Amino acid sequence: MQGLESLHIEGRRALVRVDFNVPLHDDGTIRDDTRIRAALPTLEYLLQRDCACVVATHLGRPGGQRIEDLRIDPIASRLADLLPDRAVQHCDDITGETAQSMAYALRPGTLGLLQNLRFHPGEEADDPDLAAGLAQLGDVYVNDAFAVCHRRHASVYSVARHFPAADRAAGLLVRRETQAIDGAMDQPARPFVAVIGGAKVSDKIAAMRALLDRVDHVLVGGVPAFTLLKARGDDVGGAPVEEDQLDAARQLLDKAGDRLLLPVDHAVPAPRDDVLTVDMLPAGVAALDIGAETSTRYRQILEQAGTVIWNGPMGYVEDPRFFAGSRTVARAIARSGANAIVGGGDTTGIPQRLGLLDAMTHVSTGGGAFLSYVAHRTLPALQALGDE
Ligand code: ADP
Ligand code: MG
Repeated sequence: MQGLESLHIEGRRALVRVDFNVPLHDDGTIRDDTRIRAALPTLEYLLQRDCACVVATHLGRPGGQRIEDLRIDPIASRLADLLPDRAVQHCDDITGETAQSMAYALRPGTLGLLQNLRFHPGEEADDPDLAAGLAQLGDVYVNDAFAVCHRRHASVYSVARHFPAADRAAGLLVRRETQAIDGAMDQPARPFVAVIGGAKVSDKIAAMRALLDRVDHVLVGGVPAFTLLKARGDDVGGAPVEEDQLDAARQLLDKAGDRLLLPVDHAVPAPRDDVLTVDMLPAGVAALDIGAETSTRYRQILEQAGTVIWNGPMGYVEDPRFFAGSRTVARAIARSGANAIVGGGDTTGIPQRLGLLDAMTHVSTGGGAFLSYVAHRTLPALQALGDE
């Protein structure tokens, strides 16, 4: 996988796939433009070298249809704000005449945004005609859309092979994301601690397996903990368990030995908006956070850490009563001064809420892509960029 520096771009036109899938307010304005800012270094690099940039992104889940509320317009105007010295255009299609007339008329050092890629059903289906149509819009192809690189979608996967190997490259964000994970996995300052929580254990098992080849401790919270507790033989009461993951969970526990820590207590809702810590998982009530004793144990380990990889909240963080475990984890990581790599939309929201983003070494723009890269150390869209 080559980087921007090896591309011949001066005076040429680049098709640049970014992930500007930003959260929107109900009125359609942008709630958080972190993802747009994250790809600016790549756009600036290209524009400064007199490259014309045809920029493509998806937005939301229109499911292959034109949804008026998911048009690209607010992104185009935010991009224009963020690049005040550059002409920013946008057009109302993805391929064909409309897109081509915008792309071919772009002057060097200017930028044109295509319409939402997912308005076209071929994007998620990796339709070869769509990939070919997109490829007509650039002389070179740059993929800086790290958060979708685990997908075989037309604009990140099949499109790449329409360009000669010398004319396709990973952008600076993709480079930064992969280097952050590679550095932690391959040269970890010890102790190396992984923190895994969140919603579905099935999403996390492959990453946990890969982490167990490297880490000193894995601290587990959130819903994945329940499946692992049951796999260990604990009574988990009425807690949600992914039964089809129990075998994989048992193998993980065998591999981990005493390096994998599970919660020893849990926070459950109590009357009058109160929260109660319990040692046993009760039958009729949901456990919505790790308990106080678990938090203390995890905090003590994290404060000593040299390297941390964190994905998944410890509890139901949407409710402030169940934010405590995740807050403890975030603060302990910040205090440790560790090389801290944090990924996942809900997870990165935690240091963000606490004003601790700057204390994290790397905050990934990816969720699924982040976990998949941790697990496999490559991604389908990155392989499509390579020489093989
Ligand atoms: P990320 O987006 O960071 O990858 P996930 O999507 O895997 O993380 O998980 C985040 C979700 O997990 C949040 O919506 C959070 O409320 C939920 N969650 C974590 N622990 C619990 C719990 N004990 N009970 C219910 N939901 C939980
Ligand atoms: Mg999530």
